[in-house]
Amino acid sequence: MTDDQQIPQAAPEGLNDDLKERYAQLIEQVRSARQQYYVDDAPTISDAEYDRLFRELEEMEALHPEIVANDSPTQEVGGEASAAFSPVQHISRMYSLEDVFSIDELKAWFAKAEQNAAAVAGHEPEWLSELKIDGLAINLLYRQGKLVRAATRGDGYTGEDVTHNVLTIKTIPTELAGSDWPEEVEVRGEIFISSKDFRELNERIVAEGKAPFANPRNAAAGSLRQKDPKLTAQRPLSMFVHGIGARTGLDIATQSETYEKLGEWGLPVSPYTRLLSSLDDILEYIAEFGEKRHSLVHEIDGIVIKVNNFRTQEQLGYTSRVPRWAVAYKYPPEEVNTKLYDILVNVGRTGRVTPFGMMEPVKVAGSTVEMATLHNQDVVKAKGVLIGDTVVLRKAGDVIPEIVGPVTALRDGSEREFVMPTHCPSCGTKLQPAKEGDVDIRCPNARSCPSQLRERIFHAASRGAFDIEALGYEAAKALTAPAEPSDPPLSSEAYLFDLTAEQLENVKIEREKRVKGEPTGTYELVPYFWTKGTVKNPSKPTKTTQNLMEQLEKAKTQPLWRVLVALSIRHVGPNAARALAAEFGSMAAIREASQERLAEVPGVGGIIAASVKDWFSHDWHTEIVDRWAAAGVRMEDERDESVERTLEGLTIVVTGTLENFTRDSVKEAILLRGGKATGSVSKKTDYLVAGASAGSKLDKAEQLGVRVLNESEFETLLETGTV
Ligand code: NAD
Repeated sequence: MTDDQQIPQAAPEGLNDDLKERYAQLIEQVRSARQQYYVDDAPTISDAEYDRLFRELEEMEALHPEIVANDSPTQEVGGEASAAFSPVQHISRMYSLEDVFSIDELKAWFAKAEQNAAAVAGHEPEWLSELKIDGLAINLLYRQGKLVRAATRGDGYTGEDVTHNVLTIKTIPTELAGSDWPEEVEVRGEIFISSKDFRELNERIVAEGKAPFANPRNAAAGSLRQKDPKLTAQRPLSMFVHGIGARTGLDIATQSETYEKLGEWGLPVSPYTRLLSSLDDILEYIAEFGEKRHSLVHEIDGIVIKVNNFRTQEQLGYTSRVPRWAVAYKYPPEEVNTKLYDILVNVGRTGRVTPFGMMEPVKVAGSTVEMATLHNQDVVKAKGVLIGDTVVLRKAGDVIPEIVGPVTALRDGSEREFVMPTHCPSCGTKLQPAKEGDVDIRCPNARSCPSQLRERIFHAASRGAFDIEALGYEAAKALTAPAEPSDPPLSSEAYLFDLTAEQLENVKIEREKRVKGEPTGTYELVPYFWTKGTVKNPSKPTKTTQNLMEQLEKAKTQPLWRVLVALSIRHVGPNAARALAAEFGSMAAIREASQERLAEVPGVGGIIAASVKDWFSHDWHTEIVDRWAAAGVRMEDERDESVERTLEGLTIVVTGTLENFTRDSVKEAILLRGGKATGSVSKKTDYLVAGASAGSKLDKAEQLGVRVLNESEFETLLETGTV
């Protein structure tokens, strides 16, 4: 691109100045983003942000056609050939794709394209649905079956010669297989790094002390566009074909037949492409891959729909930037950029001190995110993030949000490094690693550190333990750190069941002040349990107080395994707790059992046994058990001695939905009869019980030859021990 092309054409007179200014600004922003993305392989804005700018530009031009500069980014394919590589003229032009960002937009595009295609072809078109691979486009020129040149897309006319680099990619044949290849053909495809290879590559790079790549696309582009092919050879690049350009001596009618042919010649063809005939099929394809998108070989940012027939494609033609016979539907973005305001630390249930990022709230993958864990100080270092950085934040579907890394190009020098505190921010105790050499550091004040206590109480009340709904995180916080000068009602979880309605009256929590719903940025202390209920008569307990009191009462009758989970014994989760409860039947028996005896229990083993033994060796721990028992918490299960231990020595996995059992009750039924209930199928599994909608565990069991039982066979097994 020459200098004079950088300046947008002056917009015509008569247009509002603000509009003209915004137009020029948008062009500038899009151009600079394209340079960073295509040429420097170092974008400073997220794809979603780029798409928003581009969309605004398109909309402005649609509303004011007279404004359109003929060198506007909407009129050209993004990217240009960097001077670092020799330029290559593509024989036939390479295009970009028109994007749609919602199903409604897709439907509108489809209705028009289907009508136009039917008009030129004389019949309904056939559609090809493909995944939109998040990589970079490549143009491979084969002459007489030999790879003679490989080039990036560039501006669509001229790309960069990356032949030497492409020769290092094992899946791209230098010679085509068979003998029916044409005189000349341009094969187009996408170069990418598979998700698995990307994770391994980043681990390697971080271990070398370098900053990781923000995403597989950047990694692929950066790896292919290396000046030294030896460096490219070390990168795990792959490719799938997605079209052909110029060809001589190849008479072929459709895109799908072309893929078959390319596959026969040894070129890598995507396994995900599907020939479809209706919009409904396409919508189903979108939904299917929307769900599967994180279990595919590579990252995708959408799907591409193409008219299958080449003649119809040609008749529909192209705009200056995109074909009229194809469209890209983009899934909602999973990566955005945001500001990292601060890195704070949280002290968890076991005293582990975890740094986490506080960010400017942003919407990503359907939810607003403002916090993300950074795990430990080594992770903060490895990610190379500084406080004050603009960071790439990723949230893939329901997965926990992750700070991927900094956008270093946007630093202005005001950023500062995170320093791990030496003392607990909650109780002031000196922090230390659990064992020498551990990366994780802990607050050793397990008994009375307010943070640890709060987390333990929250855990004890959680669904997997006592299941006290009225005692959520905020309530746990309020109960363990109320207003000065009074002491918190809960200075230990030992007193959880001694709480009284009167005590709750004084429990306060800090709340942001609001005027007509608007936050004011200042805080006030408000009575927690009162504000949550309606205070009609201050002398009577509020609804939330009453709820909590009632639920505490009910919790006292929970089965023994839940009480064990509530104690926050390291490594004792629901499975180990169930196994212990089923084996010993009472807290007293567990407390008295030797470490060897504990370790013998199926589903317990040495590590858990040692942890249980160690836990009971602390007085303040046994005090919790004693105090709970004194308050009426049930410390033994009513055992039905008539139940025979029919499943002794058997390992059973249950999957899918059963009619007569819940997830919990089926495990209890197995454990009560001396069996072991595990979560995953292995060679050691004796039976897999498969209910309705059983999934991958059933496949695995079949593969391993594990016997599969239906619900009624399982009931027979429970009764008799054989089927
Ligand atoms: P595009 O990526 O939206 O679509 C065109 C490209 O898709 C093709 O060139 C091809 O390489 C690729 N593709 C993948 N799978 C394909 C398939 N099955 N069939 C056909 N093509 C397939 O368009 P573009 O013009 O290359 O790039 C625009 C996009 O790039 C933006 O939407 C944005 O996501 C990203 N971008 C980001 C920045 C930034 O600063 N973050 C800047 C520029 C572009």
